[in-house]
Amino acid sequence: MNCIFCQIIQKEAPAEILYETDHVLAMLDIRPIHFGHALVVPKLHCNDFLAVPGESFHDLMRVSQLIARAVVRTYGLEGFNVFSNNGRIAGQSVFHFHMHVVPRYPGDAIRFAPMLKSYTGQTMAEHGERIRGNIQP
Ligand code: AMP
Ligand code: ZN
Repeated sequence: MNCIFCQIIQKEAPAEILYETDHVLAMLDIRPIHFGHALVVPKLHCNDFLAVPGESFHDLMRVSQLIARAVVRTYGLEGFNVFSNNGRIAGQSVFHFHMHVVPRYPGDAIRFAPMLKSYTGQTMAEHGERIRGNIQP
């Protein structure tokens, strides 16, 4: 098993663990954007968001909120980001799904959307129609 997060979950690699349930583990990110940057990972190995087992979702969101509350309280934050990177092109570097919980500070200049597009005419409706056609509940 060469997945670092699986090794942490199995207690075969060190980590600063913040919280655990039957389904997820929360830890500090080893190379934080800001101190207190945390990761919440499902205990079952899955590459990305698309592969997260249904039974992990509730704890993933519940524990992300628990950790975000704790981080806000710890650092007196005005705001934070919760996100995941999926696929190398989206910045994913560890291919065991994880939610990031990242403190934000005034003037820290971390940005995500440099060039926003505009829908024109019917294009927004067309995009909506195409995506609705691919939703498979
Ligand atoms: P991502 O780029 O979204 O896949 O995020 C992976 C994150 O995992 C990065 O922010 C890394 O700093 C973090 N990371 C990698 N190895 C470890 C580790 N052994 N313990 C804690 N965090 C790690
Ligand atoms: Zn894994």
